Amino acid sequence: MSHPIVGLHHVTATSDDAQADLDFCLGVLGLRLVKKTVNFDNHSVYHFYYGTERGAPGTIWTTFPYRGRGVPVGRKGAGQVTATAFSVPAGSLASWTAHLRARGVAADEATPRFGEESLRCTDPSGLRFELIASDSDTRPPWPGGPVGEHAAIRGLHHVTLTVRSPQQTVELLTTLLGCQVVDEAESYVRLAVGERAPGRMLDVRYDPAAEPAMNGLGTVHHVALAITGGDDQARLRRELIQYGCQVTEIRDRCYFTSIYFREPGGVLLEIATVDPGFTVDEDVRDLGRSLKLPPWEEPHRPEIERTLPPVRSTAA
Ligand code: ZN
Repeated sequence: MSHPIVGLHHVTATSDDAQADLDFCLGVLGLRLVKKTVNFDNHSVYHFYYGTERGAPGTIWTTFPYRGRGVPVGRKGAGQVTATAFSVPAGSLASWTAHLRARGVAADEATPRFGEESLRCTDPSGLRFELIASDSDTRPPWPGGPVGEHAAIRGLHHVTLTVRSPQQTVELLTTLLGCQVVDEAESYVRLAVGERAPGRMLDVRYDPAAEPAMNGLGTVHHVALAITGGDDQARLRRELIQYGCQVTEIRDRCYFTSIYFREPGGVLLEIATVDPGFTVDEDVRDLGRSLKLPPWEEPHRPEIERTLPPVRSTAA
């Protein structure tokens, strides 16, 4: 029987300025804004979801732009996702380098870790990204970005979790979360859900001397894995509690339901359902165009719209 965890769902970060975040994700990465809403735990802050056309699970990057809300700059370190990698077509890295430089974004070629050519760059908040050249990613890109379909991002490739020691993290991922160890390199263990494919991989990077991470501007808040449905989610929640994890209740995120817990290395993980997805409250062609609020926030819409900074959500 296949495992109900089917791959990555999304990665969520605390970023700095809302407009700079939009300009980077739309105009530099070439993602589509698939939902403009608010942080369901703090409605004075936006929650932007970016992805490919429909925001399919495994293609989604999301941000809480917290500028001006008293959140300090975070610290990257142990107990955190320290890099997010997107998948781009093999042969497209030269055009990405030129595109990034033209936009004033420094890009370095990274030493191939698992035989993959890649580029690294940083967003205006200090969040770290990698673009990995893959010849096996058949997911359709969002064609509306500035780099052209031949080079456009296909979705998430993998995330890097930094921990001090890998054993317990790998044990939890392989016993309950459907992962298998598929490769190892110095200070890295690569895990995959189901098959070794873009959008299904997590790299556990271990460094016993890593400083503890601190959430704040420019750091990843959590990574979500996708699960097939609510019954499987409730069952996995019980299994995680039995295993000794402190797990939240099931939360309604409108576009999926979620549970959250920390894995033994301290990284905040979420398990999010595949359905209903981002077309539950907007037609696919209108995704991201207007501010969507969950039903319980609608009564506060006038106040929310007054508080949020105005933004332009088309590529600059
Ligand atoms: Zn999330």
